[in-house]
Amino acid sequence: MKTITKHYIDGAFVESHGREVMDLIRPTDRQIIGRVTLGDEEDTRRAIAAAKRAFATFGRTSKEERMEILRKLHHAVSARSADLTRVMVDEYGGVVQFAGPIVQAGAEVFLSAEKALHELPLTRSWGKTTVTMEPVGVAGLISPWNANAFFLCMKLASAVAAGCTVVMKPSELSALQTSVWLECVHAAKLPKGLCNVISGRGEVVGAELVRNPDVAKISFTGSAAVGRSIMRDGAATMKRVTLELGGKSPNILLDDADLRKAIPNAFIIGFLNNGQACVAGTRLLVPRSRLDEVKRAIVDTIPAFPVGDPTDPKTVVGPMVNQKQYERVQSYIRKGIEEGAEVLVGGEGPPPGLESGYFAKPTVFVNVSNDMTIAREEIFGPVLSVIAYEDDEDAIMIANDTEYGLHAYVSGTDIGRARRVASQIQAGRVAINGLLDDQQAPFGGFKHSGVGREFGIYGIEAYLETRAILES
Ligand code: NAD
Repeated sequence: MKTITKHYIDGAFVESHGREVMDLIRPTDRQIIGRVTLGDEEDTRRAIAAAKRAFATFGRTSKEERMEILRKLHHAVSARSADLTRVMVDEYGGVVQFAGPIVQAGAEVFLSAEKALHELPLTRSWGKTTVTMEPVGVAGLISPWNANAFFLCMKLASAVAAGCTVVMKPSELSALQTSVWLECVHAAKLPKGLCNVISGRGEVVGAELVRNPDVAKISFTGSAAVGRSIMRDGAATMKRVTLELGGKSPNILLDDADLRKAIPNAFIIGFLNNGQACVAGTRLLVPRSRLDEVKRAIVDTIPAFPVGDPTDPKTVVGPMVNQKQYERVQSYIRKGIEEGAEVLVGGEGPPPGLESGYFAKPTVFVNVSNDMTIAREEIFGPVLSVIAYEDDEDAIMIANDTEYGLHAYVSGTDIGRARRVASQIQAGRVAINGLLDDQQAPFGGFKHSGVGREFGIYGIEAYLETRAILES
């Protein structure tokens, strides 16, 4: 069992001032595998002070100096990718077939930010006017538990590329992953105070970051409810905010879709990260004319998506992160049944033989209408809702009939038609024929899915202020 008592402030591991101790519980068997001492407001203020001191110098670094730091971070994280993957699988039950690639993506994101920074003009001038892009200041980076190593890498990469110093507050449920990741950061030998990390509760450490006048910007990934509170409370100190929030993403199967590909893809997209993914395509929009065929394909395909031990490379769906999340998923499955949806596969309770952990059954509902609770609210578990539509216009209308707008998916054989549909979806990203990623493409939400964008030049720009100097 690992015991964590230190935070990372001013380039050193320092004992926590906060005294609250929290157990870290492995979701596969409910065993205590670690203990973390949580930081408090004082730890947070010390970290902010260190970041503020460091900003005086780091905020004036050149592109080349920052690119060098990004390369060092890439090497440091890559060197420990096996350890990071192992601890991710252990701590929150991310399946190894997801955790491995997402850790790699975390290491890669430093190089993507380096490339974007290289290509982003930070100075433009015409006549006697010069416009420069300046780092906004100390940034508070608040992240969730569901892909911890990746979020830490991604947020740090953009902030560093822009010339900001940071105080990071990862989810308290990710303390073991964070401690391995911090060993990488320490090994990268960054300038002191550039990256400070406090493990602690959102309403304590996160709230201090949001309130503190020495923090210029908050970049937050998490739930819409907390995102709203950050926007409201941050207004008092005029915080710049980037909010990456939840989703209820539609996955439209057009009537020319090849079901041999589209149904496995629907499961990959819907059960991603055990269904605990903001981008999960949880509303499967199916042409009514092909509904029976789709139902048969779902029943035939589900055995290829086994639930169980996340360390087994064949497992697709692991456990929910904790008891609370398990119960949340169960309550939505009950709600779906109460509201008249029909369970096609899965259902309530743990899968047979997996009662010792927080495992839920991968579940697909049919006879779902878009106004049911299971079609409107983010469940954050392996639960899909099949919703029938009449024609392309109807599919687009249903897809957009949601308060979210993070991601969408379209499957079809006629690419021109799939593109036409994609271009009418109110979502920050629309993927055609599969789960796709591009670290230079912007990522973020329309509507309640958030404010602002991350990745590539869009992500760096979110940490920059624009200054114009005009000469006579
Ligand atoms: P959460 O909102 O409960 O917590 C996210 C982070 O915010 C944690 O570090 C938490 O400690 C902190 N926090 C909580 N209360 C706070 C407060 N008052 N002030 C400041 N910080 C506070 O979310 P979660 O349960 O950790 O993660 C799941 C949610 O995150 C889902 O809604 C999911 O869709 C969303 N998410 C979004 C994205 C995206 O990129 N859009 C990615 C992953 C997860």
